[in-house]
Amino acid sequence: MPTDMPAPDPDMAPVPPWHALEAAATLAHHGVDPATGLSSEEADARLARHGPNQLTVVPGRSTLRRFLSQLVQPLVLVLIASGLVTALLGEWVDASVIFGVVVVNAIVGFVQEGKAEEALAALARAVATEVNVLRGGRRLRLDAAALVPGDVVWLAAGDKVPADLRLVKGKELRTIEAALTGESAPVAKHADALPADTSLADRANMAYAGTAVVAGQATGVVVATGDATETGRISRLIAAAPDLATPLTRKMERFSRQLLVIILGLAALTFAVGIWRGESAFAMFMAAVALAVGAIPEGLPAAITITLAIGVGRMAKRRAIVRQLPAVEALGSTTVICSDKTGTLTENEMTVRSLWIGGHPLAVTGAGYGPEGAVLDEGHSVDGPQASDMRRMLLAAGLCNDARLLAPEDAGGRWSILGDPTEAALKVAAAKAGIDLDAQEGRLPRVREIPFESRRKMMSTVHRVTATREEGGIPAGSSKLVAFVKGAPREVAARCSRIAVDGGESDLDDGWREKIAAATDRYARGALRVLAVASRELPPGFSDFTPEGVEGDLTFLGLMAMMDPPRPEVADAVEKCRRAGIRIVMVTGDYGLTAESVARRIGCISGGPPRIVTGAELEVMPQPTLEEILRDEVIFARVAPEQKLRVVAALQGLGHVVAVTGDGVNDAPALKKADIGVAMGLSGTDVAREAADMVLADDNFASIVNAVEEGRAVYANIRRFATYVFTSNMAEAVPFVVMLFSRGAIPLPLTVMQVLSIDLGTDMVPAIGLGTELPEEGVMDRPPRPRNDPLLNRSVLVRAFLWYGAIEAMAALSAYFFLNWLHGWPGMPLAAEGTNAYRMATTMTLAGVVAAQVGAVFACRSDQASIFTIGFFSNRLVLLGVAVELALLGLLVYVPFLQKAFHTAPLGLVEWCYVLAWAPAVLLADEARKAVMRRRGRSIPSTGGSP
Ligand code: ATP
Repeated sequence: MPTDMPAPDPDMAPVPPWHALEAAATLAHHGVDPATGLSSEEADARLARHGPNQLTVVPGRSTLRRFLSQLVQPLVLVLIASGLVTALLGEWVDASVIFGVVVVNAIVGFVQEGKAEEALAALARAVATEVNVLRGGRRLRLDAAALVPGDVVWLAAGDKVPADLRLVKGKELRTIEAALTGESAPVAKHADALPADTSLADRANMAYAGTAVVAGQATGVVVATGDATETGRISRLIAAAPDLATPLTRKMERFSRQLLVIILGLAALTFAVGIWRGESAFAMFMAAVALAVGAIPEGLPAAITITLAIGVGRMAKRRAIVRQLPAVEALGSTTVICSDKTGTLTENEMTVRSLWIGGHPLAVTGAGYGPEGAVLDEGHSVDGPQASDMRRMLLAAGLCNDARLLAPEDAGGRWSILGDPTEAALKVAAAKAGIDLDAQEGRLPRVREIPFESRRKMMSTVHRVTATREEGGIPAGSSKLVAFVKGAPREVAARCSRIAVDGGESDLDDGWREKIAAATDRYARGALRVLAVASRELPPGFSDFTPEGVEGDLTFLGLMAMMDPPRPEVADAVEKCRRAGIRIVMVTGDYGLTAESVARRIGCISGGPPRIVTGAELEVMPQPTLEEILRDEVIFARVAPEQKLRVVAALQGLGHVVAVTGDGVNDAPALKKADIGVAMGLSGTDVAREAADMVLADDNFASIVNAVEEGRAVYANIRRFATYVFTSNMAEAVPFVVMLFSRGAIPLPLTVMQVLSIDLGTDMVPAIGLGTELPEEGVMDRPPRPRNDPLLNRSVLVRAFLWYGAIEAMAALSAYFFLNWLHGWPGMPLAAEGTNAYRMATTMTLAGVVAAQVGAVFACRSDQASIFTIGFFSNRLVLLGVAVELALLGLLVYVPFLQKAFHTAPLGLVEWCYVLAWAPAVLLADEARKAVMRRRGRSIPSTGGSP
């Protein structure tokens, strides 16, 4: 440690500009040895001093503000205005009930919104960032929040930089700092000191929190965490609450504003006509208010938000974590899923099955990642020159490799791996051939590496070989460099000029190239993934360690074919998609024939050979051709992630709602462009996860399909409770119209207070119950809902207003007339306002609507299926809702204070029998309708699927 360095106590010393210090000085300043990192005790102590590596959370809107925001919604404002005028007219009881209703509505909305926010915030936290840290001499994976100044951290392509770092060592590291500097081009980084006055954007030896690594690798020391980071300084705060507004709720808001204008217009017209006809202004005002509150679906917006949030929760249980609320809606109308193959459709548990060396296939036995097994040539062990060729290839494949095998004693009883399964499989194959890779790594230390990149489709490492004894004139102790390369067969072969065969080497002529291509195709048709291995002795003084410099003039060592079985649940999920009218387009980096045979095994391809478009073809393909091809079965193979964007855009151009999967940095543009970007939770990079709308906790294709199913269910549920809520609006408005058209002969059969007691009282819990209905059987047997299909489409409105609404209006009015008839009419006129008989009559109307709604809630639970098929008791919340509904009705009718407020009066047994009979009547009428529909084999277009 240089003597003029500040004392190694980062808390006491003034903070120097880190970019101006040498890396060693920065490490010394933080009192950390780059070989061991901080000790865990020191890290704990620093964590206690500096706090977790998190930005301070915005305290959110205050509780009061959140509560008040419930009141400033157009529909509620109308209620408040009506309440104020009612109070001015001296109707204190009515006014206080209206205000009571406003407050209850606000409380319900407030509680529900709070729950939805909480659920979403918890999910956002669940997608936490993990980092590779050196602590106490061991490399650990920690939650980024646990980082402290002085921690030594590794970065690799795809990582989000977890804190502000002074780079110590870097290999071609490039980051995108748009979040910090607005510059969207990648910035090259290095570890050298810079002048103190270098501006933030030019500090190439620093990596700042929140920026993204797009290429290369580096090690750095943490110099600032949490709010002390540059990002922290700029933003300081992150929002505590996610935005709950979605296109759907916005559409709903627009709809309710339109509705409001219509309702206010009608109310004004009513008032004017009434006055013109000589009615009292007071009576007409109360009538206008009755119309307005009767027609307004007050509880709807809150119910939509809570239903979406319930959907998010259910999807999370099925391993699909939604990061954006609108994704729930988009999922329901997905028409195409563009899926990659490895790890999503397949297990990503690779086992090498065969080697191909110098034209000979060799079998590899054994399963899983354990080294039990052998390499056999037609059942016998391999020997002679072939054995040395084999060892040469397996050594190259095993050293050009970043995976680690974990023995059973280190990994819970079974052989497992750290890193890329493809690479791990190569190491396992080497172990089966008896190669001790640990020893070889010591003998041939790695001096350079060119990391794997999907665009190049290969990876290379450079190793130093030191001669232990004098050999061919080369003195002992002298050394040379050897490059090992592995990657996609065609790409690697294109860079080879010789081939290893029979213990020597020969020219890689066209004959050999054809043999390699034929062997690759043979393996690929058996659904095997094929990798080629090559090597090169670098000339003395070699210094061009770029991909172009190293990956040329290679010697082809052989092919390794590995098996990656399809995930067992994928075939079912694919079949579900087929029935649901959702297309699956495989977009993979793997070889076309391998992709095709996997696609065939899982049922993605049904007809003859599909069109296989490679990345290279895609690059130059004119747009019309691409669109034409996308209408048929097609597989995109050997595609680089950035080319996915074009496929997604073309599909969207054809009117599709597209979900696309991705895991790498370069997948981010396609994930953002898609209607639903799906990132992998296990294998995905931070960058991909941040760009995605949804993250799969298990990387499994089947989870996407489950989420689509839930998305459809959510949409269907919103339609269900909208139908239910509108139904009562119809029943509430009709009595009012009847009164108006009777020219005063019939007094108002349902008062304003009673209307409110339904909309904001009895209707609420059953509506939420409908919002929790499980996906209906057959919801995945319908084609996707068209993108432009409005939420409240014709079928919802027809059913709500003309079917259930009409029956319910009949229930309400007939109950009213039944009471009047029971009490002497027609001998005497209808009970006059203010009398007990009138109160009983309006109570009958109220009870008629409530009873009919009880029938309707069961009827609305399914579009076509009988309630007796789906089970009368299968939705507990609906049952609870009905119980609450009837209990509230009982209270309204029998509690003296409520009787006064709601203008009700107790009913007799006959009256109760009459009104309550409407509950089964509505249900049975709807059962009859459903039976007819089922017999006709017609689906009724009102759920997530289209007709
Ligand atoms: P998918 O896109 O379906 O996940 P993939 O894993 O094959 O499939 P990429 O990761 O883009 O897609 O890989 C492209 C090709 O590069 C592979 O088919 C393989 O031939 C080669 N490859 C993959 N991983 C490595 C690696 N670690 N080293 C060298 N080559 C590799």
